[in-house]
Amino acid sequence: MRRYSAFAIAREAFRHHLGWERAWKSPTPKASYDAVIVGAGGHGLATAYYLGKNHGITNVAVIEKGWLGGGNTGRNTTIIRSNYLQDASAAIYEKARSLYETMSQDLNYNVMFSPRGVMMLAQTEHEVRGYKRTAHANSLQGVETSFISPARVKELCPIISLEGPRYPVLGALWQARGGTARHDAVAWGYARACSDMGMDIIQQCEVTGIRSEAGQVTGVETTKGAISCKRLGIVVAGHSGVLTEMAGFRLPIESVALQALVSEPIKPCMDVVVMANTVHGYMSQSDKGEMVIGGGADGYNNYTQRGSFHHIEETVRALIETFPMLSRLKMLRQWGGIVDMTGDRSPILSKTPLEGCFINCGWGTGGFKAIPGSGWGFAELMAKDESPLTAEFGLNRFREGRFIDESVAAGVAH
Ligand SMILES: Cc1cc2nc3c(=O)[nH]c(=O)nc-3n(C[C@H](O)[C@H](O)[C@H](O)COP(=O)(O)OP(=O)(O)OC[C@H]3O[C@@H](n4cnc5c(N)ncnc54)[C@H](O)[C@@H]3O)c2cc1C
Repeated sequence: MRRYSAFAIAREAFRHHLGWERAWKSPTPKASYDAVIVGAGGHGLATAYYLGKNHGITNVAVIEKGWLGGGNTGRNTTIIRSNYLQDASAAIYEKARSLYETMSQDLNYNVMFSPRGVMMLAQTEHEVRGYKRTAHANSLQGVETSFISPARVKELCPIISLEGPRYPVLGALWQARGGTARHDAVAWGYARACSDMGMDIIQQCEVTGIRSEAGQVTGVETTKGAISCKRLGIVVAGHSGVLTEMAGFRLPIESVALQALVSEPIKPCMDVVVMANTVHGYMSQSDKGEMVIGGGADGYNNYTQRGSFHHIEETVRALIETFPMLSRLKMLRQWGGIVDMTGDRSPILSKTPLEGCFINCGWGTGGFKAIPGSGWGFAELMAKDESPLTAEFGLNRFREGRFIDESVAAGVAH
């Protein structure tokens, strides 16, 4: 595949842009692959990429019922950070954050990683204690974060009101190398690199059944015919329960709608990401100038990719407390995705009761930031049956009570 470069842009400008190749091929499925990944979101595509890049397994198909990146990967608010509390989480999220730093170069695709800094506001004494504890844990884990004063919060983000009507800003947990990236570009960059390695990305193809013999996975049934495989990775976020039912086991997962909205574009006024978890809202400004806004998940299980109206009202009300200037803005559009929530708010990257079948899910409201780390670890698990990055995130932890409690880091915050 031809490399993207400044020279290539100049060359194509002189020939009416007729020389660009398709970024990825659209093949018909083969009868058999060494590995099949269900779900062409960021996590599925990253898994395929690292199967090829790190383990030399390239006879791989990624099967997607819609279009690639059309699930949560293309619907999220793109916050990247690694300021989690538990060691296992810090390891996988920091691996991911560090891979984001060089992702554009690795994939030869501009993913617009913008390490502009992420702050999580402390608006109660309880939050102050919680975030100071996280900052101490992070320094032991080698993750760079600090607890900053209200004055520093105001300096970094002048549009914040420190004296909210209900909750004053008492400080914040600050990660200077956190930020955002362009979500579609992450999916497209991985897809292009996978296709370049000879992998098949098969879109508009739904997996409708999982085949097995004597407790070993043998393949999948799809709307484009049966495909056999030795290894199967299920990476379908909000549809994980649907797929594992086909495989004959259940997950401790709930599927819930999570929504986001954007305002009309305005001049640059905020160059950090701010989360206000007590009042339940967060915000950043996109390159186009829109304020990108999100809140918590809906309080009941459902599969609609829309979300409820009362949640929009609550989120906007919460953010107006923190950013009064928002009251003058018009909201442009709103959308939702279906997220997969575990009880301890940590993901599942695991072998399953079906031999050869692996599951990657439970990223809930915060899996975009984890895409490269998750792909790295899950590919290793699929290739070698174990990975230091995924060891703590097995399904058995729910049976054995070894929860990885991240309800402070991932309950509201994304
Ligand atoms: C509104 C919103 C805001 C968010 N904000 C953030 C944020 O700021 N930061 C952050 O880190 N995370 C955020 N997230 C969470 C993040 O988007 C997800 O955790 C992450 O994108 C999950 O990626 P994935 O690849 O696992 O799933 P997805 O991108 O959902 O991909 C799964 C794919 O599987 C496909 N699929 C399902 N069933 C089948 C089938 N039977 N056959 C074939 N294919 C199938 C789907 O079509 C889909 O494309 C947010 C999520 C939402 C909804």
